Amino acid sequence: MKSEKLDLNTINPDTINSGNLGNIMTAMMNQPPKGSIMLDKTLLPSRGKLYPDTPLYVKKLNPLNVKNLAVINSDNINKVINNVIATSIWGGPNFDYNTIYTGDKLFLIFYLRSYTYNDMPFRLRGECTECGNICNYDFTLSNLDIQYLDDDVPEYIELGNGDRIKIAFSTIATENAVNQLKNRQDVSIEINPELLELATYVKSVNDNDLSLFKAYEYITELDAMSFSEFANTISKYLFCVKPEAKFKCPKCGEDIYLPMPFVSSFFLPTITR
Ligand SMILES: [Zn+2]
Repeated sequence: MKSEKLDLNTINPDTINSGNLGNIMTAMMNQPPKGSIMLDKTLLPSRGKLYPDTPLYVKKLNPLNVKNLAVINSDNINKVINNVIATSIWGGPNFDYNTIYTGDKLFLIFYLRSYTYNDMPFRLRGECTECGNICNYDFTLSNLDIQYLDDDVPEYIELGNGDRIKIAFSTIATENAVNQLKNRQDVSIEINPELLELATYVKSVNDNDLSLFKAYEYITELDAMSFSEFANTISKYLFCVKPEAKFKCPKCGEDIYLPMPFVSSFFLPTITR
């Protein structure tokens, strides 16, 4: 998180009294930002499994975050979300927000909205596909439809062709690499976005680390049987938030799923007191 106000009260008085500016600055940088709380990482779609063992802190959305989220559209969505994460998540003085996993990003946005507004319900209206009942539903964080990484991730996936693939999971840094590759002028072959996404899961093959482009080439050159095996195995370890809310129809008890719109009134709710 950037542009934090320095809070001298949280620093050991001995450090301050020492008058050593370097020590004081180091002590400051090791402090979680003022007003932040520790995130329970098991709430994340990844269950926090892939992160280092150090705590992550979250801070309420600031007015600039809220203003940006309220005007989100398909062109700016990634930039806005990454910016919100950069300013609201802190994991220590050397923390790089680019290490946040792609599958956790959307959850963090919903979580931050919930934390900022004390999980204020957001009203949705929907129809039950089973019995046709139309009614209002109040969305809170617990209604979010989350696909968790509950299985332990194996160190390697072994394919029938004998290849041992070490798998990686996409982070914000990976997304940036994907966008760069898509825009590279010197790549003359046509890049298939789905295959490129699959390539992001390949860290190494038979202990040879592959660049994203090499991983893409590897995926495109697999025989169909091995490709299918890899794609199916990976699909077991996907984690994400679907921008959908899950409710039970009060009339027939059937599960109903309603799309969660990213609209201004969700991020700038009417506050009544
Ligand atoms: Zn129903």
